[in-house]
Amino acid sequence: MFTAGNRYVIGLGANLGDRAATFESALSAMARLGYIQAVSRLFETAPVGGPVQPDYYNAAASLQTSFSPRELLKRLLGIEQKHGRIRNERWGPRLLDLDILWLEGIAVDEPGLRVPHARLEERNFALIPLLDIAPGAQDPISGKAYRDQPIARDMAGMRVCGLPSPLANFAAGERPPLSLWTPCR
Ligand code: ADP
Ligand code: MG
Repeated sequence: MFTAGNRYVIGLGANLGDRAATFESALSAMARLGYIQAVSRLFETAPVGGPVQPDYYNAAASLQTSFSPRELLKRLLGIEQKHGRIRNERWGPRLLDLDILWLEGIAVDEPGLRVPHARLEERNFALIPLLDIAPGAQDPISGKAYRDQPIARDMAGMRVCGLPSPLANFAAGERPPLSLWTPCR
């Protein structure tokens, strides 16, 4: 079932350290797991839930890979750890958070792994970046298109702070472009 055609959308979040540099480094690591087809805009987002903490950067990337969801999650957690994430407080500040937001046509519900991500439809900072790169994405069970949800147009707490650069050569496992996002200020 999990062939080279598995099309995932991975959500990135960070609110400590050099957030853009962390994202670029994380995407380089993800490019070793498969083929990165597209990267969303870069958003700055007010934290939701958890303690008082700095603003987040959020983005999403589509990744085509033969890894199963479980194998991919393990590797994403490895990338988080390599970037210094220390898992402690739930929804607390983090150097890097990588979530499997969505997998085309497939739902997973196992202990410790749910795809689509359990909070995808509640979080504009996850859903809006996902729609940047997969505008036709649907819930794999109900078939309903995410773009039809009111939250897909609700930018509350979010601001665009970077536009994606072309991904030429990046997906081929070569060095990523110098900067994946052009600041739009
Ligand atoms: P969140 O991403 O909701 O802010 P965490 O990053 O702390 O929270 O995630 C905690 C746990 O969620 C992870 O250890 C992982 O096992 C689990 N999890 C379940 N489904 C997913 C998914 N689709 N993507 C990433 N983690 C997931
Ligand atoms: Mg997470």
